[in-house]
Amino acid sequence: MSRIAYVNGRYVPLRAAAVNVEDRGYQFADGVYEVCEVRDGRLVDERRHMDRLVRSLGELRIAMPMSRAALAAVLHETVRRNRVRDGIVYLQITRGVARRDHAFPPAGTAPGMVVTARSHDRAANEQVAADGIAVITVPENRWPRVDIKSVSLLPNVLAKQAAREAGAREAWFVDAAGRVTEGSSTNAWIVTRDGKLVTRQTDHAILRGITRTVLIDLLAVQGLKLEERPFTVEEAYAAREAFVTSASQIVMPVVRIDGRPVGNGAPGLTAGALRRDFHKFAEST
Ligand code: PMP
Repeated sequence: MSRIAYVNGRYVPLRAAAVNVEDRGYQFADGVYEVCEVRDGRLVDERRHMDRLVRSLGELRIAMPMSRAALAAVLHETVRRNRVRDGIVYLQITRGVARRDHAFPPAGTAPGMVVTARSHDRAANEQVAADGIAVITVPENRWPRVDIKSVSLLPNVLAKQAAREAGAREAWFVDAAGRVTEGSSTNAWIVTRDGKLVTRQTDHAILRGITRTVLIDLLAVQGLKLEERPFTVEEAYAAREAFVTSASQIVMPVVRIDGRPVGNGAPGLTAGALRRDFHKFAEST
């Protein structure tokens, strides 16, 4: 089946989907994005993703291209047209098309909007989770406002590639004080030897992951102890468990960090239980 993309008001075959070369997303990475999990044909935590989108746009002073209701309709229609049951829907909004100039374009320039959706193999993902993933650590080299979900992802791209080349699936950024901020496309967590879950507090140095937020609700219900604070790489090496969270990976156990086994080197029980129960706490629309 050929895939369909939504591009600035039209649904077009993906191979014909294109944006103007003067789109500021292309020229300056002047735009924001969201990725929502699709599960059983429904969007997971759509409301929270839309709230974060509105915030990212506001921080960058990019206008919403349409009402929230209209935007939701486009997301669902793109999922429907691509017949995605399990996968992701991707939304990108840029500051629009204008003659290249770093400063903002004239007021009234229409934002650009693209939506794509694609299926993933749920069984294959479950197998990855059953095996657990390896991560490497890399120096934090991003700008100090990564709480804004901007499409400007060059450090994340380089970090993910470094992970690939090291035989790992994710890279954790480590700040100048030796503390993990987050992964290149995930939030980072550990479970300490005494059973506390630790993940960095949401300041401007990490993205406030929606999966992270929902998981925190789940922890409270399960009576698990949470500490929102930075953890060091040394603490992570010594942790009982580690895992990462994101809309596309849900809760993904980490079994090696920089080549060292985490705990006994197998996916942890806490991560497994959280992965299993996550969708009971997420919203589906
Ligand atoms: N941090 C970064 C840098 C990310 O790109 C993502 C994925 N969007 C996350 C964290 C996790 O966020 P979410 O749970 O909303 O997917």
